[in-house]
Amino acid sequence: MRHGNPQPNRSPRKPVAVSKRPYTGNKDGTAKAKRAGTEWFVRAMRARWKFRNMGTLVIRDMRGKPGVLSVHATGRAADIGYLVKDRKKAVEIVEWLATNADALGIEAIHDYVYGDHGRGWRCDRGKWKIYTAADNAGSGGYWFHIELNPKMADDAGALSEAWHSIPKPDKA
Ligand SMILES: [Zn+2]
Repeated sequence: MRHGNPQPNRSPRKPVAVSKRPYTGNKDGTAKAKRAGTEWFVRAMRARWKFRNMGTLVIRDMRGKPGVLSVHATGRAADIGYLVKDRKKAVEIVEWLATNADALGIEAIHDYVYGDHGRGWRCDRGKWKIYTAADNAGSGGYWFHIELNPKMADDAGALSEAWHSIPKPDKA
């Protein structure tokens, strides 16, 4: 089969740090119970860096989007809080999470207090996007909203293994 002429003037692409993966969002629906991997993740973040558990499984709609199921309802989202004075350390840690998102099975991260409107990382983009007044994840504060993929949300053993295999940030 012929593929036509090669595209002229194609600019060289930069290598990407992480591959792009499909985003699950709320497609797996409401969970009947907390999911072991998600709960393990929150405990690990608390044990190592003192993040506070601000909630995992909650059956509700997205904030500001009535009728649209929040990913919290699937049991794969966690809100983990930190102190204002610890913001710098928290940023270093969340960027470590994004860099290692493939290994850890992370699908999305919302960082609400970055810049004027926050920023978000998504597995189907493989990078951060700076939010604007018109395009953002809603108002938030000093916590990160983190979504795991279905496999890691259910498999605390696999998540623990991945977590322990990755070098942690130096100064955090
Ligand atoms: Zn959340």
